[in-house]
Amino acid sequence: MMRALVEVDLGAISHNVRTIAARTSAKVLAVVKADAYGHGLVPVAKAAIDGGASYLGVALLEEALLLRAANISTPIIAWLTPPGSDFKEALLQGIELSVPSREIFQEILAAAQVASIKPRIHIEVDTGMSRGGFLEDWNSFLPELLEHQNEIELVGFWSHFARADEPGEAANVRALADFELKLAQLQDLGLQPSYIHFANSAATLTNVDAQKDIVRLGIAMYGLSPDISTLGEVSQWGLQPAMTLKATLHLVKDVPAGSAVGYGGTAVLDHDTKLGVVAMGYADGISRRTDSSAAVTVKGERANIIGRVSMDQFVVDLGITSGAKAGDMVTIFGHEGSSVDEWAQAAGTINYEIVTRIGSRVPRIYLH
Ligand SMILES: *Cc1c(COP(=O)(O)O)cnc(C)c1O
Repeated sequence: MMRALVEVDLGAISHNVRTIAARTSAKVLAVVKADAYGHGLVPVAKAAIDGGASYLGVALLEEALLLRAANISTPIIAWLTPPGSDFKEALLQGIELSVPSREIFQEILAAAQVASIKPRIHIEVDTGMSRGGFLEDWNSFLPELLEHQNEIELVGFWSHFARADEPGEAANVRALADFELKLAQLQDLGLQPSYIHFANSAATLTNVDAQKDIVRLGIAMYGLSPDISTLGEVSQWGLQPAMTLKATLHLVKDVPAGSAVGYGGTAVLDHDTKLGVVAMGYADGISRRTDSSAAVTVKGERANIIGRVSMDQFVVDLGITSGAKAGDMVTIFGHEGSSVDEWAQAAGTINYEIVTRIGSRVPRIYLH
C-alpha cells in the first residue's frame, strides 16, 4: 500500500504527441524540463519519442545529461544554461545549446576549442517578453556571430511568446513580425539556421503561422490546457490528461458540529460529520493556499478540503453518510476525480504549477 502516488499514463503522452504531430508539418519537440512537468523525465521522454517527437527540450543542462545517461540519443536542446555551466560536457554529450547573450556565446566558443567539437547552437531573440534572448544587444551580436560562423553549426533561430495563450492579442502579431525581421537580418548576412522555432503549446494549437519548423510542445503534451479560461479544455483537440494524483486516508473519524479544523482553527464545522485525513501535504506539493473549493474523490463521491493544508496532511469533509474508511485511496485529481485545473483555481495558480510542484517523495507509477 502506498501513502501517495502519481500515476502517469504514458499512452496518453504518446497519443498527445501523435495527435499534435498529425496537425502540423513541423517537427515536434517534447518539452521535458522540470522532471517532465512532474511526470518523470526519462519515461515521458521515451513515450514522447514513441509518439513521434524528434527533438527533446529542457531548461537545464543537468536535465539534458540525465537524458543522455538514460541512453536517449534524440537531439536535445537545453535553453537555460547560465554562465559557468559545463559547456564542454554539453558538447561531449551532443547537447544543442541556446545562445541568448554574447557572454554565453563566448563561453560556448571557448568550450568548443577545448573539446574540439563544433557546437550546435540555437540563437534566441527577445521579441517582447523582456526575458530570454538578444534584445538591445542584437545588432552588436550580429558581427560577432558572423566572425565566428565557421566555428559553429547554426542549427536554430528561436523566440518565445509572452502571450500565446491570448490568441487575439496584438502583442503576438508584433512578436512574430519582430522575429521575422531579425531572421531576415541574419539571412541578409548569409547565415541560414536549419530550424526556425517559436511556438509553445498555445501557439501550436491556435496559430499556424507560428508553427515554423519545430513546435515546442509542453503543457499540451501532458493533456492540460495552456489556459482554460482563454483556450478551453484541450480535449477539443483530442488530447488526454496523463497525470492522476492519489493519496491514502490516514484516518476517518466522526467530528461534532462546532469543532475547529486544522492549524489556526480557520474552519469551524456547522454540522456533525465524518472527516478524512489525507496523507499528503504542502511538502508534497498540495499548496497551503488551496481553498475549500478543491475536492478529492473517494468511492465515487466528492469530498471538499476543510481547514488549512499541513505539511504532510490535509483534511476533507467526507459527510456523515460516507462509507470511506481509513486506508482507502482518494483521487486528488485526474482520472475519475477533480481536474488539475480545479485544484489550480482553488490554489490561485495555474495547472503548470500544480503538476511541477509535486514533491520527490511521491513515487511516480507508470501505466503503459
Ligand atoms: C516551457 C517552455 C515551452 C513549453 O511551453 P508550454 O506552454 O508548456 O507548451 C516552450 N518553449 C520554452 C522555451 C519553454 O521554456
